[in-house]
Amino acid sequence: MNNQKLNISELLMQFPLIEKLQTEQYVFWENEKLTSKKQENENITMDMIRDAEKRLQRFSSYIQAAFPITKFSKGIIESELKEIAAMKKLIEGRRGFNIPGTLYLKCDHALPIAGSIKARGGIYEVLSHAEKLALEAGLITEDDNYEKFHSEEFSQFFSRYKVAVGSTGNLGLSIGIISAELGFQVTVHMSSEAKEWKKDLLREKGVEVIEYESDYTSAVENGRKAAEQDETCHFIDDENSMDLFLGYAVAGLRLEEQLKQAKIKVDAGHPLFVYLPCGVGGAPGGIAYCLKQIYGDYVHIFFAEPFASPSMLLGMMTGLHDNISVNDIGLTNQTEADGLAVGRPSRFVGTLMESVISGCYTVDDSFLFRSLKGMFETENIFMEPSAHAGVYGPIELMMQGTSYIKKHGLADKMENATHIIWSTGGDLVPEESRQHYLQTEI
Ligand SMILES: *Cc1c(COP(=O)(O)O)cnc(C)c1O
Repeated sequence: MNNQKLNISELLMQFPLIEKLQTEQYVFWENEKLTSKKQENENITMDMIRDAEKRLQRFSSYIQAAFPITKFSKGIIESELKEIAAMKKLIEGRRGFNIPGTLYLKCDHALPIAGSIKARGGIYEVLSHAEKLALEAGLITEDDNYEKFHSEEFSQFFSRYKVAVGSTGNLGLSIGIISAELGFQVTVHMSSEAKEWKKDLLREKGVEVIEYESDYTSAVENGRKAAEQDETCHFIDDENSMDLFLGYAVAGLRLEEQLKQAKIKVDAGHPLFVYLPCGVGGAPGGIAYCLKQIYGDYVHIFFAEPFASPSMLLGMMTGLHDNISVNDIGLTNQTEADGLAVGRPSRFVGTLMESVISGCYTVDDSFLFRSLKGMFETENIFMEPSAHAGVYGPIELMMQGTSYIKKHGLADKMENATHIIWSTGGDLVPEESRQHYLQTEI
């Protein structure tokens, strides 16, 4: 990011959608740079994503030993792909139109250990760092049984090292839990949105939590600075980390397998739509990247952001990425979707997404709470507010996205479409907060 002065009135002329963002309306932005060919970035290859998957496989014996809840999945941290026909009916009834095709929920709100999508990238990066240290110290080889990581000896070893991260909450939870379990000294720099219960839970596990009055971008900045001065400290950089990105991307390979298992076709006659809530961009970005490599033109991916924090939309549309923040156009970045309260997007992710995603849309906080209640009542599934940004995707597609459908020749294929709403968080939310959310109407 730099401090160059932005000419907002000029931007407004060039990008009239900015005015709709400023006045907090539902915005559907189509990415005109989307290419029809798969483009593998030479710095992020499918081989690297497969390597990440293998690394997680190596660690599965450790995960199983340290977190017995993962016994069922043999130490693999994965979530279910679930059809949500009752929720679909509810949406169609409320809206007065049909959503052609089948509606699924990718249940990352129920990912074991961290209860959010951050269990993918966050845990992966810490494991990858731990493996590197252990290999360098000659404590292990790649062919060993990694259950060794769950031992007093390893814990002693890792206690000489530090891990730090800046977070709006969930990334801190994920990194804090796994780092503390391995034995690292871990510090989480929490921005003002972060919920009390997340800080309490981390402190219980021996994690140092530093609280800021300011937003996410400055919490990250402070964390980064503190870590730079300490050689033994590994700073997990949500805006730029390759390991985080790869950890998230593995979800694409796993989803491919799940779709096969469920005999769900994705091809020229069977389009796949995926709706991902977006904060700084790492989690949805990694997943989108891998899915695009696998399915090419047959997959259509949309990122979802709250009215108050459309940072990825703004950064990609203007091409300014992290050189523009939602505050620059007069938005507050204050939203109940705490996981998405990011005012400035990742440049690394935004640039990569230019050839990958079909577009972004914005959603009102009031929708998130209606959806939260509806999902609980129809499917008995609790997802935190941020996770509901994806639920609006199929609705938006049928409302402001019809020109996209026509343009891509999909109109007569929509009955065969599969829509996947990517749920992102919820399982660790305490009962009291759940009741509060379920009763919130705004
Ligand atoms: C972090 C998070 C996201 C978005 O991930 P980013 O990498 O910040 O884009 C979405 N939903 C929830 C619940 C999250 O915690």
